[in-house]
Amino acid sequence: MAFTKKTVRDIDVDGKRVLCRVDFNVPIKDGVVGDTTRISAALPTIKYLVEHNARVILMSHLGRPAGTGFEPELSLKPVAEKLAEMSGLPVSFVADTYGDEAEAAVNALEPGHVLVLENVRFDKREKKNDPEIAKRLASYGDVFVLDAFGTAHRAQGSVVGPAAYIPAVAGFLLEKEVDTLTGIFAEPERPFVAIVGGSKVSSKIGVLDHLIDSADTLIIGGGMAYTFFLAKGMTVGQSLKEEDWVERAGEMLKKAEDKGVKILLPVDNRVADHFGEDAVPEVVASDAIPDDREGMDIGPKTEELYAEAIKGAKTVFWNGPMGVFEFDNFAHGTEAVCRAVADSDCTSIIGGGDSVAAVNKFGLADKMSWISTGGGASMELVEGKALPGVEALLDA
Ligand code: ADP
Ligand code: MG
Repeated sequence: MAFTKKTVRDIDVDGKRVLCRVDFNVPIKDGVVGDTTRISAALPTIKYLVEHNARVILMSHLGRPAGTGFEPELSLKPVAEKLAEMSGLPVSFVADTYGDEAEAAVNALEPGHVLVLENVRFDKREKKNDPEIAKRLASYGDVFVLDAFGTAHRAQGSVVGPAAYIPAVAGFLLEKEVDTLTGIFAEPERPFVAIVGGSKVSSKIGVLDHLIDSADTLIIGGGMAYTFFLAKGMTVGQSLKEEDWVERAGEMLKKAEDKGVKILLPVDNRVADHFGEDAVPEVVASDAIPDDREGMDIGPKTEELYAEAIKGAKTVFWNGPMGVFEFDNFAHGTEAVCRAVADSDCTSIIGGGDSVAAVNKFGLADKMSWISTGGGASMELVEGKALPGVEALLDA
């Protein structure tokens, strides 16, 4: 186990006021909740607390309010209603977070009931981790539970604050996310194949660097592959390139070689004469990209090569699409890799906003072992960083 903090299992919650930070930052349009993944992900902890007779006080942010007060379109009220509908639990909502109304609602809360507070970010002191905010929130609870994995990398009032005043433990989602995403570095079943794509080397350098410490094979795709081509002295036509990162890309190749990590780069590419939905793909070898073409996706030979490596894996971590998968003409490589991961008899872990969107687009989510609910937080873990929210919890 890679998780070293206390969890809800380690504390007595019977009759207690349990202040729980969840990630209910869901898409809402005209008061209607869209994707409910994050609400579902929070249910195991909420249900556990209710079943153990806790008085459950939930708090979350939603969107990016100005921090100057109530904004109707960013209220958590519809989310509280959705939670009631999905869970069948007694859920109430209070249109206040730090004031007397919130306090009164907390005091009136019965064991086995759930109260959702209003958006913590309606007050700008939340993001500044103001101690007054933290103290106020902590006063609502006997214990604090952090289950908001998606914001655990932010040292904000409702995330880290209460831990300074009341005992703080992890919820099940946080535990599972951290355990899974750090487990690939602690004790992966081998071979461990890591797949990294997306547009830029610069945004993934920490991820690449840390994965080379643990993986047996590192598969590279997406726009970032072309900066690696440059590092190998190849030409890339009009493909996405980061001249300033060529040297770092070269260092990564060298590090992998020194550590005996196999790096796979595309052997062929789907290129186009412009970047657009209507662009027509042409397949060219990696050493023959024409000057006036840009690489938009990996090619069919590369798909086979990558699928073969993935087939033999026992652990796969994947972050970053293999091409411009938003355009149907250039989604093929990402879909092929996604299917190979889905078909492989391995533990498959997916992280990153666009990668998760791709898995959902291809309808393969239920074939994966774990799909992370946190974009930024999951990347920080894979970079080897500690998350402030987790650090603040009691050690197990
Ligand atoms: P994630 O959100 O999963 O971490 P990134 O944000 O790093 O992934 O990268 C996703 C983006 O990379 C997508 O918008 C995709 O269009 C882009 N991308 C992938 N391949 C290419 C390419 N060859 N050229 C330009 N952009 C690309
Ligand atoms: Mg992204």
